[in-house]
Amino acid sequence: MSGQREKRDWRDALIASYPGLFKVTESGRTGTPGYPTVGDGWRELVETAVARIAKAVDAARPGSAKIVQIKEKFGGLRLYWQGWQLGAATNDAIDEAVALAEARAACTCETCGEEGRLHDKHGWLSTACDLHAQGDPVTVQPGFENVRLVWTIETGKILVVSRRRYVRATDSFIDLDPKSIDIEE
Ligand SMILES: [Zn+2]
Repeated sequence: MSGQREKRDWRDALIASYPGLFKVTESGRTGTPGYPTVGDGWRELVETAVARIAKAVDAARPGSAKIVQIKEKFGGLRLYWQGWQLGAATNDAIDEAVALAEARAACTCETCGEEGRLHDKHGWLSTACDLHAQGDPVTVQPGFENVRLVWTIETGKILVVSRRRYVRATDSFIDLDPKSIDIEE
């Protein structure tokens, strides 16, 4: 149970399981766009996200959606995808799968999968449990724990599109009363 080969197994299996979503290149599976480069602690949430995306595009034309990147950035998960003529409902379903995965990653240790939080070690950010933490926990403004805001900018003004809190126990979002959180808009 050691070595890189063992560690790569679930990633290889994921790519192989969804040939419609990943464009396997000649350089091999590790060179495949979308090949997950995240830690084992995020395995389950990545697998769940990809399964949800596959379900969302099930009815669409084969090859009409591709996962481009699954990586860690600034301690968080980034899952990028591209779609072609999918329709609004399918687009929304994929966006929701990605939002859930990114929100879950934000409170899940990338090393072991237990509940975690963002830590900062001299500017290097990572999401970790107490056991695997490096550096200090990043302070979250009270009331903003696991809150996910989606906004757009219209005529130079920030417009909050949705304001939700991720609930780890149920892997779902709950809508928040806009007045419950003080944000400058
Ligand atoms: Zn951990």
